Amino acid sequence: MTNNEVKDLIDLLDKQHPNAVCELEYSSIYELLVAVILSAQCTDKRVNIVTKKLFAVVNTPEQMAKIDIEQLEKMIFSCGFYHNKAKNIIACSKDIVDRFGGEVPSNIDDLMSLAGVGRKTANVVYAVGFGGNAIAVDTHVLRLSNRLGFVDSDNPLAAEKALMSAVPEEYWSHLHHLLIHHGRHVCSSQKPKCDECLIKKYCKYIKEVKK
Ligand code: SF4
Repeated sequence: MTNNEVKDLIDLLDKQHPNAVCELEYSSIYELLVAVILSAQCTDKRVNIVTKKLFAVVNTPEQMAKIDIEQLEKMIFSCGFYHNKAKNIIACSKDIVDRFGGEVPSNIDDLMSLAGVGRKTANVVYAVGFGGNAIAVDTHVLRLSNRLGFVDSDNPLAAEKALMSAVPEEYWSHLHHLLIHHGRHVCSSQKPKCDECLIKKYCKYIKEVKK
C-alpha cells in the first residue's frame, strides 16, 4: 500500500467509525493498566462493569500489591481467566511499587519489564495512557492486518512490525482503534459484513474469496 492509499484507508475507516477511541473507563494510568489486563478475552463493556466496583475498593498499585488474591479473583471473576489476571495484576502492582516508586512507567521497555504485562498491554497503555505512538495487536488487528494484506501471518509481532513499516508513525495509535472497531462491528472473524464495508477496495481477503 502506498502512503496515499494508507491515508485513504484511514479516512474511510474514520468515516465508518467516527468514534473509534478506547472504550475502557479509567481515571488514572494505573486504572487503565488494570483495565487492559482485564480486557484480554473479554468485552470492554464487561470490564467497565467490573472495574467500576473494583476501583471503588482498590485503585492504586500500593493497595493492589497488598490485596488478597482470592478477594481480587472474586471481584474480577466475570472477566474470565480470573486466576491469571489476578496474579498478573498483583505482580505488576508490586513491581510498580518496588521498582518505579508507585508510578506506572511511561516507556514501552519499562512497561514490558513489569511482571504480568505483555507486549499488547504495554502498547495500549503507552498509546492510550501516555499518548505515544504504538500499534497493539489484538485478535481484531491481527485479522484485519491479514485480510488487508499488510501481513500473511498469525504472529502478532509480525503484524505489528508490518503495520509499523507500512503506516506513518503518527497514525499508529489511531489505526489500532480503527481496526479494533472495524473488527468488532464490521469485519468479524466468521461473518464479515462485506456489503457494509467502506474499505472493501483494499481488502485482499474479499478478492481471494471472489476468485
Ligand atoms: S471487505 Fe469484508 S473481509 Fe474485507 S475488510 Fe471489509 S468486511 Fe472485512
